[in-house]
Amino acid sequence: MMRFAIFSDIHANLEALEAVLSDARERHCTHFICLGDIVGYNANPRECIKIVRDLDCPTVKGNHDEQASQPEATGDFNEMAERAMTWTRAQLSDEDRQWLRDLRLQRQVRDFTIVHATLDTPGQWGYVFRDLDAAASFTYQHTAVCFFGHTHIQCAFIRDERARRTQQEQIHVEFGKKYFVNAGSVGQPRDGDWRAAYCIYHADENLIEQRRVRYAIEKARKKIIAAGLPRLLADRLPLGR
Ligand code: ZN
Repeated sequence: MMRFAIFSDIHANLEALEAVLSDARERHCTHFICLGDIVGYNANPRECIKIVRDLDCPTVKGNHDEQASQPEATGDFNEMAERAMTWTRAQLSDEDRQWLRDLRLQRQVRDFTIVHATLDTPGQWGYVFRDLDAAASFTYQHTAVCFFGHTHIQCAFIRDERARRTQQEQIHVEFGKKYFVNAGSVGQPRDGDWRAAYCIYHADENLIEQRRVRYAIEKARKKIIAAGLPRLLADRLPLGR
């Protein structure tokens, strides 16, 4: 049996990551996949990197991972993200930064692909919100299924005659179609639901299952404030925005 727990955009939220991993183990997941943005925004970047490294699972690089691995700001982030990133950089060891730097942008795992942002230009960190954005990625998708993140919005795009978006919780993978599946965000969902998002791919059953998990959000919020990170980062978590 092969059952993949696929998670993205942890953003240093340790409580959310732990809740997702324990849910995945309860659901008998056998393999783990990380779609990037392990760090940034929340208060436990080192701990989250350690957990992902210890899982020793296929992982791709996110834009926050890239920024954290740079020696200093490159001016690509807005002010709040940059304040959090300056704080994050200072927490990480040289070894953490090197590990983030060495992550690849895109990988194939078994019969599916993983990427953080888009398949057409993975290093430019574009956002796939609409059918048209998904259509550009589908052009470069050579497997039936690809998992991605970056928007923090759990959803999927299905291409048969054309690309269309779905927010179904269960997606049956059918022959001849392509699936570009956003696993949502573990540590900072922005689809109006505060619960940690991730995805289970039941490979033997051709079934993709989108999941949400409650976690100790107050604990995560208090740590953000205690760390001196921007207050808004704590306030947005319960809103799911
Ligand atoms: Zn992100």
